[in-house]
Amino acid sequence: MTYPVYGETVEEIKRSIADNAPSRNGNSYYAGLTKWNLAATYDLIPTHQGCLLDNAEVYLTLRIHLPVLAQKPRSAALEREWRRFFNSLNAHEALHGQNAHRAATTLLAKISGKRTDVPCSRAKLIAEQATQTLIERISAYDKDLDARTHHGATQGAILNPSVQ
Ligand SMILES: [Zn+2]
Repeated sequence: MTYPVYGETVEEIKRSIADNAPSRNGNSYYAGLTKWNLAATYDLIPTHQGCLLDNAEVYLTLRIHLPVLAQKPRSAALEREWRRFFNSLNAHEALHGQNAHRAATTLLAKISGKRTDVPCSRAKLIAEQATQTLIERISAYDKDLDARTHHGATQGAILNPSVQ
């Protein structure tokens, strides 16, 4: 998903991103945003030994928000700078996306065809807890990635104010 930003200079473009960014935390804003949601369904089949988790399916919804410059910048240098910024931001958001994909794959592997020696009511609770724990762990990865990279700034997702 994209949102339009406008401006002929770095300063104007930055202001437009600040006004339109989908992600805000107090006074700070982030030009890109990746949102994901993970859910799982499976059948609980009672067995002699306990419970079998069968027909597992994992659903991942991934939404990446990125800015699109809807106006021609005033110089070729600024056009290049925008492209560089956009590609870096896109790469940073893709890392969040990879985290989410990894979570989905891990979850599917964990619950697919899983045989337990506890009753299905208990197995259901265990599977739900495992899902929740995984979601929390991936959220922590996302937070850590943003802390380490200053929301992608150290990966180049920041507009150079000296470009004219
Ligand atoms: Zn980020």
